[in-house]
Amino acid sequence: MSVSFALSPEQLELQKLANSFARDVIRPAAGHHDETGEWPDAIMKKGWELGLMNAHIPESCGGMGLGTFDGCLIDEELGWGCTGIATAMTANTLAQVPVMVAGSEAQKKKFLSPFTEAPLLCSYAVTEPNAGSDVAAVKTTAVKKGDKYVLNGQKMWITGAGHAAWFFVLAKTDPNAGHKGMSGFVVDAKSPGITIGKKENNMGQRASDTRGITFEDVLVPAENLLAGEGEGFKIAMKAFDHTRPLVAAAAVGLARAATEHAIAYARERKAFGKPIAEHQGIAFMLADMAASVEASRLLVWRAGWEIDQGRRNTIYAAMAKKCGADWAMQVAIDAVQIFGGNGFNKEYPVEKLMRDAKVMQIYEGTSQIQRIIIAREILSR
Ligand SMILES: Cc1cc2nc3c(=O)[nH]c(=O)nc-3n(C[C@H](O)[C@H](O)[C@H](O)COP(=O)(O)OP(=O)(O)OC[C@H]3O[C@@H](n4cnc5c(N)ncnc54)[C@H](O)[C@@H]3O)c2cc1C
Repeated sequence: MSVSFALSPEQLELQKLANSFARDVIRPAAGHHDETGEWPDAIMKKGWELGLMNAHIPESCGGMGLGTFDGCLIDEELGWGCTGIATAMTANTLAQVPVMVAGSEAQKKKFLSPFTEAPLLCSYAVTEPNAGSDVAAVKTTAVKKGDKYVLNGQKMWITGAGHAAWFFVLAKTDPNAGHKGMSGFVVDAKSPGITIGKKENNMGQRASDTRGITFEDVLVPAENLLAGEGEGFKIAMKAFDHTRPLVAAAAVGLARAATEHAIAYARERKAFGKPIAEHQGIAFMLADMAASVEASRLLVWRAGWEIDQGRRNTIYAAMAKKCGADWAMQVAIDAVQIFGGNGFNKEYPVEKLMRDAKVMQIYEGTSQIQRIIIAREILSR
């Protein structure tokens, strides 16, 4: 068996396409969207036209059917452009994967095909005011009445909620059965009884959109239940095996951008009669930053490759997410340090990277939760 880090000509093309989109379209607009919090609608439409969104939708549903590894190549470049815009563009994946892994052929066609025909969005609605890391503590209920479920509850921190056509919603169908009493539904965002909250005023990734959602006696057709009652927790967690490598890839992109900015600045900026890059204290920081980028990318590639081989990649996905997010945070902090006073100023690019990096240690499972998963995996072997 051979090992190769060489990308195929098609993968190199995809990477190049995503990189030029990030360079020419995302980067010039990133500051504006960070400042205003304006939703990057026009950018997303362009990305959709280029095939940089929804690339994983199966060919049977009219999509390109790309794997997680290829998605990671795209997402590193988008993250290099701006993780706020990248999160807005890629949140679809987290909501669509539950349908991909648990939906019937009819459900896949019905819920996924429209994304190949128009630049639509969807959201993964799991977190609640009192249930984040502890997903099993979800209180939203779905009660079966005839051929419908009646949904009641409240979700929080839902990315893209203000623009979604539908939500993947995790709700309790048996409130007494813990995580085994949870079920996953596709819920039309226009259903009567749904109230979408205001856009949250977040510290970073401000181009993205996070909101609360309230469900009040929302009727959901029974055919929108994925897999079966009691399968929801498994589906919601399985989705992360696909998406954590993608989030980690965007974190690699952010860390790469911060490292590039820091190297360029350290070569130019002089202190004590020479460029600061020639002071060993700064050179060592740059070395650590560059090594973090390479190491986290290797974990991302491993996690993406494993799942594309049809193998369980939970431990690699958690490792990639933990290291990708934690190292991106550290690299961004170090980039600010290397810029000195200028690093603290909005005229320079690195303070935004530091603000944007933080949430990568929080969403799709905090860095503590990734450690819990890794520890569980290694200790159960
Ligand atoms: C910008 C943004 C976008 C988001 N997008 C989405 C989305 O699209 N869909 C969605 O469903 N959710 C989304 N989330 C929610 C996100 O997944 C949660 O915020 C996250 O899982 C943490 O949950 P929490 O905020 O309730 O923190 P808590 O679970 O209350 O955790 C608080 C702290 O305690 C730590 N902690 C908790 N349990 C343990 C433990 N057992 N051991 C050690 N430490 C522990 C955590 O790591 C954290 O540091 C988003 C959040 C943000 C901020």
